[in-house]
Amino acid sequence: MLYKWPIIGHEQQVSKLENDLSGGNLSHAYLFVGPDKVGKFLVAKTLAGILQCSNNYCRRCPTCIQIEKGAHIDTIEIRDNGESIKIEEVRTLVGTLQMTAQSNYKIVLIDNIGRMTPDAIGSFLKTLEEPTSKTLFLMTANNLLELPSTIVSRARVMKFPSLSDKKLRLKIDEMKADLKIESGQEMIEKASMLSLGRPGKAIELLRDRDAMTEYLRFYNDIRSFFRDKDLTKRFLYVQGLAQSIADDEEEDNDDLDVFLEIFVHIARSLLNAKIESPSGENEDYPEVMRFSKQALLNLIHKIDETRYLIARNVNTKLALENLMLSF
Ligand SMILES: [Zn+2]
Repeated sequence: MLYKWPIIGHEQQVSKLENDLSGGNLSHAYLFVGPDKVGKFLVAKTLAGILQCSNNYCRRCPTCIQIEKGAHIDTIEIRDNGESIKIEEVRTLVGTLQMTAQSNYKIVLIDNIGRMTPDAIGSFLKTLEEPTSKTLFLMTANNLLELPSTIVSRARVMKFPSLSDKKLRLKIDEMKADLKIESGQEMIEKASMLSLGRPGKAIELLRDRDAMTEYLRFYNDIRSFFRDKDLTKRFLYVQGLAQSIADDEEEDNDDLDVFLEIFVHIARSLLNAKIESPSGENEDYPEVMRFSKQALLNLIHKIDETRYLIARNVNTKLALENLMLSF
């Protein structure tokens, strides 16, 4: 690598970007696509630093320090604050882009562009189509399908998949000192597994003991569903979960999202264990003996269906009870 990228994994993507840089083949718009907290925005921000700093993104000069803080005049950040990006915000952005750059480039970082309202997209497209020279758009998205093709077709798309548990664990261990992580081997292993291969999430869990405890609790509870095969227990559990979501004043579905995400992850891990040792025992997943490959495939399908239904406002308690009956 020509530059120092503080990124875990994604070696191919980073080296592709370096090739674009050194070969003078930089696109005026990139779209980095992958799950939340996989590292897309960090790559975008590092690329911005490399382009703006006159000393290889030294992280010491005023330009670098301002970029790190998100306060650089020609590096505009639209961070994901969970709200939609409205037309007013895009108009302000277009106005800013019309002013002459004081730096090497004018760079616009847009995190989770799927949040843009249709009005805002209409107004943004013109700028994306006819960018002023030295203007660069670095955008991220979770899913290509949620974006209008007019945006996708105007950007160079790069995919950022999640990492394997093992790779993530080894990388975090290797970079522990840089990441200022003091956790031992066992915690790193757990965080890598629970983060579902997303480095940003794993680091967040290692730094936030409460979140880690909550993730672990879900993980152990769901594993016990497979071990005990106790329908009454499962029912009481999801009824309690549905109730706590209904009582939640913030009215978000965070707990439910985490629950279903970990659930599908465990089901997939069991399926992998089954495929690896179809009839034999599995040390990590002894409970896999009790399920056929088809049963696990059906369950994965059913969890996806449950997520789909709940996202469309089907009664949460009924949907979860139904899911509990399916394995
Ligand atoms: Zn610098």
